[in-house]
Amino acid sequence: MINDNDYEKANFRALIEDDEIGKVSERLNIIEVFLNTEEHVTLEEMMQLLRDRGYDYDPEFVRQCMNRWVEHGFAQKKKFEGQPPRYEHRHLGKHHDHFICTKCGKIEEFRNEEMERLQIKVASTQGFHILQHKMEIYGICSGCLSRRSPLMPLAMAKPGENVVIKDIMGGSHARSRLASMGLRRGDLLEIINNNGLGRLIVGHEATRLAMGRGIAQKIMVSLAPQNEGEGR
Ligand SMILES: [Zn+2]
Ligand SMILES: [Zn+2]
Ligand SMILES: [Zn+2]
Repeated sequence: MINDNDYEKANFRALIEDDEIGKVSERLNIIEVFLNTEEHVTLEEMMQLLRDRGYDYDPEFVRQCMNRWVEHGFAQKKKFEGQPPRYEHRHLGKHHDHFICTKCGKIEEFRNEEMERLQIKVASTQGFHILQHKMEIYGICSGCLSRRSPLMPLAMAKPGENVVIKDIMGGSHARSRLASMGLRRGDLLEIINNNGLGRLIVGHEATRLAMGRGIAQKIMVSLAPQNEGEGR
């Protein structure tokens, strides 16, 4: 990887010297810092990494430099849902896809040959020729999963999660509210919408239910076991 970086830096130096855009050593410092992180960095995180190395550059200069770096094919700019744009290395001929944790924002890379081949196969059955693709899988990372207590109020569940009702707190009033919605212990719910403020929208069997946060705080749930090989 280090050799890769040295080679890419030399390659980049040749290109910017050809362009005669000036500030070559500053630009190379930025690239050096960028190549030394294996993270998917935002502009702000790049600014912090530069400061950590004692470089105090104008953010606009750094942004322009990063974008030039992208234009020349040394980096990729990625926009993951709900996050500012991020830059990551682009090593020629090497492709990977991403898992994005919707809880902590962590981005993990993966590459699966079978999945890559399958995409080409599926496309070709429709006569489609793939030029590029990106696969982004959103979910909860292993760290967040292990930190989370097995029981939580429904109000804490994230959109897209499937949960099982384990318990109902708050006495007979809450229980009868739930019964009136047709919900019982052991029922499976799919969180359709939960923005942390207003009502939650949950799927229960074939019905979508709107539920106030008050009652959602009283319903204790746990994540539904995920069936491997189930296509969702
Ligand atoms: Zn891929
Ligand atoms: Zn996470
Ligand atoms: Zn990546």
